[in-house]
Amino acid sequence: MNDPSLCPLLQVDLDAIAANTRQLSALTTAGLLAVVKADAFGHGVTEVARTALDHGAVFLGTATLQEALAVRGSGIDAPLLCWLTGPFTDFGPAVRARVDVAAPTVRHLDAVAAAARATGRRARVHLHADVGMARDGAPAELWGVLCRHAARLERAGLIETAGVMGHLGCADDPADPHTGDGLTRFRRAVAQARRAGLRPVYRHLAATAALMTSPDTHQNLVRIGAGLYGIGPSGTDVPLRPATTLTAPVTTVRDVPARTPVGYHHGHITDRPTRLALLPLGYGDGLPRAAQGRAQVLVRGRLRPVVGEFSMDQIVVDVGDAGVEPGESVTLLGPGRRGEPTLGHWAAWARTLPHEICTALGRAARIERRHLPAQARPAHHLEIPA
Ligand SMILES: *Cc1c(COP(=O)(O)O)cnc(C)c1O
Repeated sequence: MNDPSLCPLLQVDLDAIAANTRQLSALTTAGLLAVVKADAFGHGVTEVARTALDHGAVFLGTATLQEALAVRGSGIDAPLLCWLTGPFTDFGPAVRARVDVAAPTVRHLDAVAAAARATGRRARVHLHADVGMARDGAPAELWGVLCRHAARLERAGLIETAGVMGHLGCADDPADPHTGDGLTRFRRAVAQARRAGLRPVYRHLAATAALMTSPDTHQNLVRIGAGLYGIGPSGTDVPLRPATTLTAPVTTVRDVPARTPVGYHHGHITDRPTRLALLPLGYGDGLPRAAQGRAQVLVRGRLRPVVGEFSMDQIVVDVGDAGVEPGESVTLLGPGRRGEPTLGHWAAWARTLPHEICTALGRAARIERRHLPAQARPAHHLEIPA
């Protein structure tokens, strides 16, 4: 058990996730696949998956098979895809749990087919094409072979090619020509799959950035991670709601004179008599050290600087003349409505992405995570016109 008087608290507002799911679904006629990898970007996979499904998502997606099986283990029955597996993975558990699997290589197809044979059930695959980022899809020169192999395994009754997927690397910039190139390659890959005799029902290429910037990439399914959590590409005006708020109780306070050195290597020296407040979390809990010297937190309605080096377990805030007392709560980040820093501020301070900050905080064993429930979905079908 964490000591409650010392425990930072990460609150996840499921109503924000619900609202974001509805907002993002409304941008497209394609179905929405909610990406809940990395414990739903640190927000809690079970809670987020249920919320997204309740508010319009039609599919769930994870990176690893282990993550997908955890979703099934929590009793969620919705269509579910995982896209990062090895060519020697035992896909038996995937087939038994009705988890769709992305296949970027012939070896993956063979491993999936072996699992189908062993379980006596047809496996569902989504062929994964590289459309220009040289990461996890099949390169164009191997795509034909992959499609023909999938067609053979279909005829043998072992697999069903439920989908074709690709992923865009530069869609956060609507002017980047690589997005158009990626779309062309994707269309070519789908056409080639059809010529091989495959009938992929789901064709999916866009993630959050492409959903918001490039409508022609939507196909009939969009895979949405960041946007669900209120993280959108810069320059778009869709009002997404950040879902996390991180607070921590002040552990102790001390009044110090001017010229007091603070923390490791005396990374800060006070320039006036002031009050220092200690917070019980540090880089071991996901606060990026790269933000030191820039980070601020909200104390009694005012931004106050974090001073000195971040320690693994603690940081020090210069609260100035605020009469802060041990035990009172300080806000490290939130939606920004009360002037508190946001995930975006932390990402800028640490010169990283908001994604990296929220996945790290969500993993922190010493931070308690609590979920605030979503409001019920507006039940339009119950409204009787006058
Ligand atoms: C993480 C991931 C996504 C989600 O991307 P966002 O930009 O967070 O929406 C979609 N597809 C794949 C293959 C991914 O790895």
